[in-house]
Amino acid sequence: VAQNPAEPEFHQAVKEVLESLRTVIEANEDKFRKDALLERLVNPERQFKFRVPWVDDKGQVQVNTGYRVQFNSAIGPYKGGLRLHPSVNLGIIKFLGFEQIFKNSLTGLPIGGGKGGSDFDPKGKSDREVMAFCQSFMTELCKYIGADTDVPAGDIGTGAREIGFMFGQYKRIRGLYEGVLTGKGLSYGGSLARTEATGYGLLYLTQEMLKMNGKELAGKTVCISGSGNVAIYACQKAQQLGAKVVTMSDSTGWVYDAEGIDVAAIKEIKEVNRARLTEYKKYRPNSEYHEGRGVWNVKCDIALPCATQNELLLDDAKALVANGCFAVAEGANMPTTIEATEYLQANGILFAPGKAANAGGVATSALEMSQNSERLSWTFEEVDAKLQNIMVNICHNMADAAERYGMAGNYVAGANIAGFEKVVDAMNAQGIV
Ligand code: NDP
Repeated sequence: VAQNPAEPEFHQAVKEVLESLRTVIEANEDKFRKDALLERLVNPERQFKFRVPWVDDKGQVQVNTGYRVQFNSAIGPYKGGLRLHPSVNLGIIKFLGFEQIFKNSLTGLPIGGGKGGSDFDPKGKSDREVMAFCQSFMTELCKYIGADTDVPAGDIGTGAREIGFMFGQYKRIRGLYEGVLTGKGLSYGGSLARTEATGYGLLYLTQEMLKMNGKELAGKTVCISGSGNVAIYACQKAQQLGAKVVTMSDSTGWVYDAEGIDVAAIKEIKEVNRARLTEYKKYRPNSEYHEGRGVWNVKCDIALPCATQNELLLDDAKALVANGCFAVAEGANMPTTIEATEYLQANGILFAPGKAANAGGVATSALEMSQNSERLSWTFEEVDAKLQNIMVNICHNMADAAERYGMAGNYVAGANIAGFEKVVDAMNAQGIV
């Protein structure tokens, strides 16, 4: 904390991980201490912070700040998304990069941990302004990334449009047509099922977690927060698997649809029109729109937070438990505060942490990298089948790791342990670097 002040989200992520690894750390204390293993683990290998000047539609120069944190490359090239949101700062990028190390390890694929982004807000900007920003951002970022060194992807605010502009600029400056970004369009090296992967993967893992505990997803009522990439495809897959999703939200309000969310309407509002959820009522007159927060006060069996960090607080956890919710799986990164997580676990809720539950996105990004290396494209069904397999494996790995250390059912600890073991093994094998 003294070395990295004013990074509360990063400290929260480190605390959560290290606390849950206490038993593993104590069992190896002398070696870890001698090798400064934990000190190396929490210090990024490299971090870049840079100026991003661009010209808006009025001819005015705007200046944003860009970041890329290359956290850990023990098991593969750095991999992790680019977040474009006004709240972005170094501490947020570091928390996301730190989480990414363990998540990527859990996928079983050869990818290290990294994250980047900018405080630029794509909302309300014209396509030309977004392109001007993305080109300026990539003009600097392209010096540090490459298909075998660091492969960024999308995240909040970075979708197919932004990835396209960035890929074009990378190619133009570096003169390389390579898989340097994932989440690309299908016409230029993207993977089928990448758009759906995080949301679908969340449901595959949730379904498996319920199965392991003698429960099932079909027929259950689900509350989802967010209405972006993760939330939309989580909603779609939940419905395909027979559950009823009754809520979705954005940063200004939320909708309740007792008959089940109309995904096609949400997709049109968010993906096509880039509009607000206030529009939903036009498609579904019987639904309700509420300003502000409130999704977690709705009665449900399963809660899937899919918006952003620290969106499910202690009071929300209490409301969920009081309303009979029995499972929470995190589609977003660190959406549940530490106190809320502890409350849910203490009350017997099945709780799947983001680094396991939302790993389907990065896993499918790694599959996109494989396809780019092979110069081949796999079918939707092939990618989806691999994704399902990966999520089921992650679910069992986190459950097994928890059990091995006497914490059966504590999937937060299990996911951290399983991810940590592989990274530490690789770090130890590679010497003091
Ligand atoms: P999007 O930008 O597509 O959607 C984000 C959604 O969350 C929007 O509905 C947005 O509302 C809402 N939101 C964002 N910030 C806030 C806030 N401060 N308060 C309330 N609501 C907010 O992002 P994604 O769906 O891609 O990402 C969602 C989460 O999932 C993030 O935590 C991300 O890191 C994580 N994630 C994403 C992956 C991916 O493949 N996309 C992979 C793994 C994790 P509004 O439209 O009003 O901004």
